[in-house]
Amino acid sequence: MKTDTAAISPIAVRYTAHSKLATVDFNDIPFGKTFSDHMFLMDYSGGSWNNPRIEPFGPIPMHPASSGIHYGQSIFEGMKAYRNPAGAPLLFRPDQNIERFNRSAERMAMPAVPPALFMQALRELVLLDRNWIPDRPGSSLYIRPLMYAMDEFIGIRVSENYRLVIMTSPASIYYPKPVEVVVAQDYVRAFKGGTGYAKAAGNYGATMLPLRMARERGFDQVLWVDGVEFQAIQEIGTMNVFFVFKDKVVTPPTSEGTILKGVTRDSVIDLLRDRGLKVTEEKITVDEVVAAYDSGALLEMFGTGTAATIAQIGRMGYQERDLLFDDSRWELSASLKAELAALRTGVVPDRFGWNVELE
Ligand SMILES: *Cc1c(COP(=O)(O)O)cnc(C)c1O
Repeated sequence: MKTDTAAISPIAVRYTAHSKLATVDFNDIPFGKTFSDHMFLMDYSGGSWNNPRIEPFGPIPMHPASSGIHYGQSIFEGMKAYRNPAGAPLLFRPDQNIERFNRSAERMAMPAVPPALFMQALRELVLLDRNWIPDRPGSSLYIRPLMYAMDEFIGIRVSENYRLVIMTSPASIYYPKPVEVVVAQDYVRAFKGGTGYAKAAGNYGATMLPLRMARERGFDQVLWVDGVEFQAIQEIGTMNVFFVFKDKVVTPPTSEGTILKGVTRDSVIDLLRDRGLKVTEEKITVDEVVAAYDSGALLEMFGTGTAATIAQIGRMGYQERDLLFDDSRWELSASLKAELAALRTGVVPDRFGWNVELE
């Protein structure tokens, strides 16, 4: 197979003649706006992946009839590179992102990317732009793989041509303020049989209107629930959600296919179990959360995701209720955030084998 050959053949590199590195103030890089010097590109046609290459970062010409932008055969991933104390680039659980990318691809009838080739692309791109990995505490290089359909054809059919792009974007320390969420009431993000478990572009497009409405009401994010009873909690924007009770930690299960299975979520479950705490993946309703809040049994609520890592939730709006969380009780979320940061930057031993060192 051509794809297997590609996985062991070198990736062609065209270097930038104009590095932008010197223009970046690493003390202050807002998330998602600055891009490093190079990007990885690879095209799928004739049933195989071809022409893996690294080029200077920049615009990519696109045919106006490209099916990906009309019909949403488009998926992405999000992961981060850090530096360990010795300066070596580290990727956090990239195998998980590659696996999930291919699960998303399958759901959208798009071709899988051979994992070894994907890993090689990540490795070479990040090593080439390694000086773009910020070394300030809390900073990282965000990595965004994207695949979209390229058939130049107006009409609904499974595309035969695709492009994989991998771009990287440094971000300085992110000082998150507690997130304020509002329970979705008239809109649904995902339902059984849908695409909720895929990182597919359309899932996010569909949330823009409810997100704007939530922001107009003073909230940061929507807390998604099931679309039948509007009770079973799913997740928040681009974060999975955890509830800390006195005797256990609960997160909704991903078994229905309505929740994006976060790498941070999985890691947090492992970290909690490693501490000897009880974690359950079980259905939890909005009414149960409100009752536990009223009785004092609910201590903390937090979101998990690559961008924010752990985001503490300060407020949950639900109909006429406003649940305000007391930040003096935020112990577990704070210590998990610190532990995760220490693991991802190689400051503490990697006892789970999560880091891939690129050297
Ligand atoms: C990306 C994402 C997450 C978080 O996944 P991580 O792998 O932890 O970054 C959660 N929910 C949704 C909808 C997402 O898109």
